[in-house]
Amino acid sequence: LSLCRYDIISNGILKNSQTVEIPRLSIPEFVFSRSEQFSDLVEYECPITKRSYTYGQVRKRSKNISKMLRKKLGLDRRDTVLVLLQNIPEFPIAVMGCLEADLIVSTANCMYTPEEIARQLRDSQAKLIITSYELYSTAQKASEKLGRKLPIICIKTLQDQSLPRDTIDFEEISTTVLDVPDVEPPNPDDVAILPYSSGTTGLAKGVRLSHYNIVSNLLQVYTVANDLIGTASGNYQETTPTVLPFFHIYGFTITTLLMMLKGVRALTLPRFQPDTYIQTFKDYKINFVYVAPPLILFLTMHPEVKSEYLRHLTFAISGAAPLGSLDEQRFIEKAGQNVLMIQAYGLTETSPVVASNTRTIRTKFLEESKGSIGHVLPNTEVKIVKPGDTTDTPLGPMESGELLVKGPQVMQGYHNNPKATEEIFSNGWLRTGDLAHYNEHGFLYITDRVKELIKVKGFQVPPAELEELLRDHPSIADAAVIGIPDPVSGEVPRAYIKLKEPVEPEDIDRFINDKVAKYKRLDGGIEFVKEIPKNAAGKILRRELKQRYLQEQNA
Ligand code: AMP
Repeated sequence: LSLCRYDIISNGILKNSQTVEIPRLSIPEFVFSRSEQFSDLVEYECPITKRSYTYGQVRKRSKNISKMLRKKLGLDRRDTVLVLLQNIPEFPIAVMGCLEADLIVSTANCMYTPEEIARQLRDSQAKLIITSYELYSTAQKASEKLGRKLPIICIKTLQDQSLPRDTIDFEEISTTVLDVPDVEPPNPDDVAILPYSSGTTGLAKGVRLSHYNIVSNLLQVYTVANDLIGTASGNYQETTPTVLPFFHIYGFTITTLLMMLKGVRALTLPRFQPDTYIQTFKDYKINFVYVAPPLILFLTMHPEVKSEYLRHLTFAISGAAPLGSLDEQRFIEKAGQNVLMIQAYGLTETSPVVASNTRTIRTKFLEESKGSIGHVLPNTEVKIVKPGDTTDTPLGPMESGELLVKGPQVMQGYHNNPKATEEIFSNGWLRTGDLAHYNEHGFLYITDRVKELIKVKGFQVPPAELEELLRDHPSIADAAVIGIPDPVSGEVPRAYIKLKEPVEPEDIDRFINDKVAKYKRLDGGIEFVKEIPKNAAGKILRRELKQRYLQEQNA
């Protein structure tokens, strides 16, 4: 086996040959000590409104918020705050303020409906909501549905907006300097972030990520990706547009925190709009992009994206969903041969990064690594096992199986859900629910998913959630949801429905569309069936439905 020197395989377990020492610090202690040197540089800027904050301002405001939250607004250490925000410059300030105050931050998807937010508020037992002018009404309706009126801190995104009467003004709490001692820093093993993920099965669950988990992942990624981004100094500073949502762990750890270690200027785009995204490339010198596959396809295919707009790019990293090697190649043809196209892989449950390609790997082993997610990160171990093999015996090169992970970035467990935690761990290894193999050079490939999860444009759609909603419809007896391939979104949800009484598919669509974020809609269609296939234990056989669908398409 001719392995690259970056990996070690012993007894079928893949490890990186590098290791990093991880300090016992909280996220704010670690990140702010590293970014102190960039104080006068712009850290976050909204390219639409031009609102911006320097590194020094972010630091000061976070501290102010931390004291206000604890000393004036009455939150206790370890209370949870739900952050419902689009990508705006104030997002990281709010989160760092909460973390510095020793609070837990539960990041919520800003596309969610009030019902979906209410569920997360209830499950996470959040005590306060931080939201923006645009999302206030969603937050307020969610709080009403909860039946418990939560205090809401609201962020103005334009000067002339007037905030609803009963909200707390973010500007005020982030600029008021309280003459009280700093809040005691959190213990590194305490939970810092509580994002939601369905994992391998069932509904979305709170993922307990500690300060230590996140600091580890930052250092692990930094070690292998250090040579990708230049560190800011003097007049030199790199710029990137951040369109990956900050509420998702990929956007949070990588496009907010990792950037702080390099002094990057992050241009925050509140949502993906083709015109504004393209305009950002015209107006700014964009040095690199962290994206998901649909954005690589957009940059490659969209006729308005001219190659010259991409001329300053040094690399593009894609993660969150699979990207084919042909798509990598087409992107390079458009952006230029000097641009490195790199794929990385991870999960919410792993803070998120598990494996990544690097500059060295991509330059030296272009052919051997194409389409791959690269090598496992330092301090991380992975093995591939036969699904259903309870002994978890590692498979060899080119053998396909489920990917298992161990490392300091692996979550502590699911919030208030010991059963789900027990199910996802196997003798200390986290079961990813992804099918993978490694080639004779040690490059890892993700080929399929054995878990239920559907990913639409990189966003999670748990089938169990849609099935539960469908079963609530008065005319529906039973339902199953699967993901089917889609050229733009990667996958889209499709429902199989057993009826109690006749109903039009449009009625069902309307029923669902009111309750869920847009990307969860049944865009893959609805099919009425006599029975939902289940095994003897009553488990829905979604893979069978998917195979049947694919066969029908190929017939
Ligand atoms: P999330 O927790 O939302 O980040 O989703 C994690 C899941 O996204 C993984 O378990 C994979 O199924 C998928 N995923 C993430 N990165 C990649 C990648 N580079 N290639 C293929 N699938 C990926």
